[in-house]
Amino acid sequence: MNYDVIVLGSGPGGYVTAIRASQLGLKVAVIEKENLGGICLNWGCIPTKALLKSAQVFEYINHAEDFGITVKDANADFSNIIKRSRDVADGMSKGIAFLLKKNKVEVINGYGKIKKGNKVSVTTNGKSSDYTAKHIIIATGARSRELHNLPQDGKKIIGYREALALSAPPKKMIIVGSGAIGVEFAYFYNAMGVDVTIVEFMPNIVPIEDVDVSKQLQRSFKKSGIKIMTESSVEKVDKSGDGCSVTLKTKKGEQTIECDVVLSAVGIIANIENIGLEEVGIKIDRGKIIVDDYYNTNVNGYYAIGDVLSTPALAHVASAEGIVCVEKIAGNNPDPIDYGNIPGCTYASPEIASVGLTEDAAKEAGYEIKIGKFPFAASGKASAVGHKDGFVKVIFDAKYGEWLGCHMIGYNVTEMIAEAVVARKLETTGHEILNAVHPHPTMSEAVMEAVADAYDEVIHI
Ligand SMILES: Cc1cc2nc3c(=O)[nH]c(=O)nc-3n(C[C@H](O)[C@H](O)[C@H](O)COP(=O)(O)OP(=O)(O)OC[C@H]3O[C@@H](n4cnc5c(N)ncnc54)[C@H](O)[C@@H]3O)c2cc1C
Repeated sequence: MNYDVIVLGSGPGGYVTAIRASQLGLKVAVIEKENLGGICLNWGCIPTKALLKSAQVFEYINHAEDFGITVKDANADFSNIIKRSRDVADGMSKGIAFLLKKNKVEVINGYGKIKKGNKVSVTTNGKSSDYTAKHIIIATGARSRELHNLPQDGKKIIGYREALALSAPPKKMIIVGSGAIGVEFAYFYNAMGVDVTIVEFMPNIVPIEDVDVSKQLQRSFKKSGIKIMTESSVEKVDKSGDGCSVTLKTKKGEQTIECDVVLSAVGIIANIENIGLEEVGIKIDRGKIIVDDYYNTNVNGYYAIGDVLSTPALAHVASAEGIVCVEKIAGNNPDPIDYGNIPGCTYASPEIASVGLTEDAAKEAGYEIKIGKFPFAASGKASAVGHKDGFVKVIFDAKYGEWLGCHMIGYNVTEMIAEAVVARKLETTGHEILNAVHPHPTMSEAVMEAVADAYDEVIHI
């Protein structure tokens, strides 16, 4: 069968690419070995957010008295919470099937392997067929990274997939790694009554965030009972007993702690093995496929997008890359993606959202900076909704007024970061933000107030 475009993998990179390519008039097929929607919809973004919502509802109920409401005997039914999350994921995956059909994208179920001559061989139930396309886009995503001293067995040492579908909550869990995935699970399992310890190699949790944000999350997590060990790493795990005996290298020396389950959340590894890269001659570097600004690999007619690249491993990045890739294939002239303006969000409670340079990175880059900060403790809306923790921090270049970075931690901030993304894209100055009247009372006023603070014009602090 001949196509204009074959997309290998149906994650947010793959399915969005396929739909856009079809909208552009190309004949498209997407090949998927598992569930439509990839990690994002089935084992990542969406099911985690469903779990986090259950945790937040439970937390609200447990603190209902703060809002003048008495609730008796609230219980978190763990298996129903997991079931809801799985149902949400299934519903989303079915939605992708609908969207692909609506957009006339053919779905080929099976394991795909690229071949020379613009071919993909797809194996389904032991039978293989070849498909040909002028353009083959690799979007096979990634999986949980395993450390040699933390090999996942799916039972006592688990990755994110198992953490999304445990049959019962463990009593004690150690989470290794405190990036977005680690801290989201830490918040969820702690809310479910699990004794959670986070082990982080770096000096701060969520180490890619601005240090002020990391410290605030650390304070909030400690207040909610999550234990945090920074500058610590796992040496070995003894699984011979009922649970796990985890030996850690810490700043105070070697320490052993017991737990039922260790969740390894130390990042991801690209799915680039056994997909034919070597046969076709596609170059990789440190486990990621090498591409140019339009996602061409070194071999004509073969492209790669999403988590198989060294770009940020985020769903919105994967889909944006796919759109740029097929726009170019269709003969349009898309702008390359500005990787300096990609928002990153973490959906624990409090939420984190950020874009652009942190304070340290801006200083390291040699900028003279103006910083503004507005605490939610001073926001009327934050007080009214009972979420006074957190702040918005903005960083401007003092000389030319460029908005270098925006860092938020608090209630609902993941819904607020788009303002900074759009403003930065439009090269908006601080005073243009101040002149754009923000609605009252909203959490988003904190962005305006933080900008005002940077320019010594803040009203409410
Ligand atoms: C727990 C967790 C939470 C996350 N939360 C967020 C979040 O909140 N926001 C965010 O932006 N990102 C989040 N991410 C990251 C996000 O899920 C990924 O960045 C995104 O899914 C990458 O998309 P992709 O299309 O590159 O690949 P994937 O989503 O990994 O999809 C790849 C697809 O290719 C298929 N495939 C692989 N090999 C083959 C083959 N040989 N033949 C056929 N099919 C194949 C796979 O089965 C899979 O369906 C999270 C990730 C995890 C693990």
